[in-house]
Amino acid sequence: MSRLIVISNRVADLNKNVQSGGLAVALADSLRKRGGVWMGWDGETRADAGERPPSVKQIGDVTTVTIPLTREDYEEYYLGFANSVLWPLFHYRLDLVNFESAFLEGYRRVNKRFADVLVNYVEPDDIIWVHDYHLIPLATELRKRGCKNRIGYFLHIPFPPPDILSAVPDHKWLADSLLSYDLVGFQTQTDLGNFLRYAEEHVGIHPHPDGSLRFRNRMVRADAFPIGIDTDAFAAIAAQYADEVQIDAMRRSLLDRQQIIGVDRLDYSKGLPDRMKCFSRLLELYPEHMKRVSFLQIAPPTREDVDAYADIRQELESLSGAINGRFADFNWTPIRYIHRSVPRDKLAALYRVSRVGLVTPLRDGMNLVAKEYVAAQNPDDPGVLVLSKFAGAAEELTDALIVNPYDIDAMAEAVHQALMMPLEERRRRHAALFDRIKRRDALAWQRSFLSTLESLTATDADAA
Ligand code: UDP
Repeated sequence: MSRLIVISNRVADLNKNVQSGGLAVALADSLRKRGGVWMGWDGETRADAGERPPSVKQIGDVTTVTIPLTREDYEEYYLGFANSVLWPLFHYRLDLVNFESAFLEGYRRVNKRFADVLVNYVEPDDIIWVHDYHLIPLATELRKRGCKNRIGYFLHIPFPPPDILSAVPDHKWLADSLLSYDLVGFQTQTDLGNFLRYAEEHVGIHPHPDGSLRFRNRMVRADAFPIGIDTDAFAAIAAQYADEVQIDAMRRSLLDRQQIIGVDRLDYSKGLPDRMKCFSRLLELYPEHMKRVSFLQIAPPTREDVDAYADIRQELESLSGAINGRFADFNWTPIRYIHRSVPRDKLAALYRVSRVGLVTPLRDGMNLVAKEYVAAQNPDDPGVLVLSKFAGAAEELTDALIVNPYDIDAMAEAVHQALMMPLEERRRRHAALFDRIKRRDALAWQRSFLSTLESLTATDADAA
């Protein structure tokens, strides 16, 4: 078995399995089995970042290699091109794209630095797996440095339709960069279809039915690999965790009250204002839920140095204040809005005691919260997942109540249906959903990606 080289913007702490989540657990698992290297940014900014040697740690057969960035890199690569151009663009939000040429230069510069450092750790038989939108040009840079290894890429966020992608000045360069990999993986069939249509319409390549494309005399394979979670481990944590969360739930059930839960980074792609409006609409349409149902929204801060994130925070604070002002009573707070990060084990318990999981992003690559909510339920008395049709997870989780996150009235109807759903139907839907996320967990995801990458012949990889 080949060694594995993983490169992502950040490197997870290999010793903190539960808090890191399914992705880190799955990647750490294959790294430990195969031996290899995990490289990324160390999260620090330093004036002399370009000249410093990387920080290298050895944990068993796994080497972690991390580098700092300069302040300029952080602003242009991370806040700039990655999070003010690619993130909104790939989430279909052209209105929020802030394109500056310095951002692209910074993005290229950091990818070159990653490649300069990484080539020192790559051996001829290694397979290389690059993650996410921060590192699209890395394969091109590695090839320029003589790297002939098989290189796979996985995009964790959506891939937009060709017309949206083609609105940014450097879209052809982005596509060429993706086509320099041996394998390009997407979360969903929709994303894969968008990529193949772009290749056809803008690059003039006709994909084979198996998703392979010939680009500049070499073969590139594209496919969908929906990411999963550490389903069994997460279900076990949810079942075990007995603390004040459960006492709180018991108190609520004595009062015949139910909880709706939402958990999202505070990001404009998550549809949070419309979700709060949906809760308000629920109370207008079905006043019987007044004083009996509360909505807990956990929304930890993220990327606060980007303006669009400060705006959404203000909007949410004023909306939750207005809704609570209108409906609250002395002994009932309709919306509890927590602008802090909650540890994953506590989240597991909170999901379990919530009758409805409300996951309504306007656009999302996958949305792991949807899968975690399902994993955490008590199979004998499970809650109901209400899921946006624009979350990648909706392609798989068809037994959820699927909603249009732009249609507030219809969402309120679905939440009402979820709150009223008979036990038998809840069990049936949950069993189907759980079966799906158990079969396609994080380990199955990484195995399927890596075995596809390994199945590509060296000839394909070296044909350049
Ligand atoms: N999460 C967490 N604490 C929080 C909020 C979120 O640990 O307070 C975790 C959550 O359990 C999930 C991840 O962050 O594993 C969010 O992943 P998702 O795919 O839903 O959205 P993303 O943040 O990647 O857009």
